[in-house]
Amino acid sequence: MTDVPPSFDVIVVGARCAGSPLAMLLARRGHRILVVDRASFPSDTVSTHFVHQAGLARLHAWGLLDRLRETGVPPLRHMLFANGELSVSGFADPIEGITEVYCPRRTVLDSLLVDAARAAGAEVVERFSVDDVLFADDGRAVGIRGRTTEGREREFRARFVVGADGANSTVAARVGADVYRAVPATGFVYYSYFSGLDWEYQNRTRDERQFASCVTHDDLMMVVVMRKRAAYQEFRADAEAGFQGVIDHVAPELGADLRGRGRREEPFRAIHYADNFYRRSHGPGWALVGDAGYHKDPLTGYGITDAFVHAELLADALHLGLSGAEPIDTAVAGYAQRRDSDSAGVFNLTVAMSELTLSPFLRAVLTAVGQSPGYLRKFFTMVGGGYPSEEFFAPPNLAALYDEVGTPPADRILPAIAGAH
Ligand SMILES: Cc1cc2nc3c(=O)[nH]c(=O)nc-3n(C[C@H](O)[C@H](O)[C@H](O)COP(=O)(O)OP(=O)(O)OC[C@H]3O[C@@H](n4cnc5c(N)ncnc54)[C@H](O)[C@@H]3O)c2cc1C
Repeated sequence: MTDVPPSFDVIVVGARCAGSPLAMLLARRGHRILVVDRASFPSDTVSTHFVHQAGLARLHAWGLLDRLRETGVPPLRHMLFANGELSVSGFADPIEGITEVYCPRRTVLDSLLVDAARAAGAEVVERFSVDDVLFADDGRAVGIRGRTTEGREREFRARFVVGADGANSTVAARVGADVYRAVPATGFVYYSYFSGLDWEYQNRTRDERQFASCVTHDDLMMVVVMRKRAAYQEFRADAEAGFQGVIDHVAPELGADLRGRGRREEPFRAIHYADNFYRRSHGPGWALVGDAGYHKDPLTGYGITDAFVHAELLADALHLGLSGAEPIDTAVAGYAQRRDSDSAGVFNLTVAMSELTLSPFLRAVLTAVGQSPGYLRKFFTMVGGGYPSEEFFAPPNLAALYDEVGTPPADRILPAIAGAH
């Protein structure tokens, strides 16, 4: 197998938020790239689609943000988070010049990314499902085997293989990538698109029930409901009533508005999503990126943003390797290390929030944040990806916050261990 010359520098399996940007960035640097996906674009996927400022900053840097804006997706410049009676609202400082956020339909966003990869010179093969990774005698990944939707088997060879094929990654399974820091998923999600509602961006929780809303293309309001898994059987027995019931319970006035003015325009999408985990994301001749290598609860809406950020990190590492500046496996190991350290804060916060109950620590912090305009902006800037959560939640920063708003000593809760929420 080793004596067959590779046709490509890199094969990328999966062409959505991680795979297409990676393919685009490498192709723009002159590398020969193949990206395959079993889907055919435009293609929807079961995922809501809020993109933080840090993610939009990547699109901007790649010259794609204006294209996204031209699709007519409405900008959002205000956010509200509420838990029971506690609520904070506001918006972030500009992050790399980005002053708004968007919630673009995946049919639109993912197609834009695939088109950009193709325009950059990557070969894009749709309706191609990968079954296997090919290995050389020394165990190095050297290609993929799969089949077209018509059942025709094909093999492709490359110097490097990347799995950008989502949380249930076939590439991860075939290369035997171990999982670490796994935390079981706690919830399930139902969402759909409604006309007749002019709700703001909001994320409200009460008694382990949550809903969020965000305007998207065609002036439709994406409304998503999340509950703990124990409630699943009861919920799905009558999803319409279960959905309405969560909004009635969390915010009765909005429940009445949904019943009165809201009209559901599309079927419900429902999902029991995968656990929170990291996977070893580098090995001889292979790497993982996006959900394939690092997956967390959708609640904080960070999967797309992280896929963009980490695709760029991996593209930089692969370019170092392909151009001979550094051994490729060493460069890619550096990518995985950096991904893990950069993402730890969001991972911890996401896992904590996915309990749908505020810890006493987070309650104390948010109560104080709500009383300080400066910290409110800092909080939303952290949410948008412009300020590290490790710094925001660092004891000296919180002590200054508690001092500023006069939090009584008994209510000044600090994290027991750095990074824990
Ligand atoms: C309910 C829900 C809500 C979410 N809401 C948000 C949100 O609001 N904001 C946000 O940022 N993130 C959200 N996420 C997370 C987000 O969907 C993911 O993090 C993101 O899609 C990851 O992108 P990816 O490219 O890594 O993988 P995916 O988007 O999963 O893409 C993987 C691609 O690989 C292809 N593929 C898989 N296996 C093969 C194979 N064997 N052969 C060929 N192709 C293959 C698939 O067809 C797919 O196109 C949500 C997720 C869920 C489940």
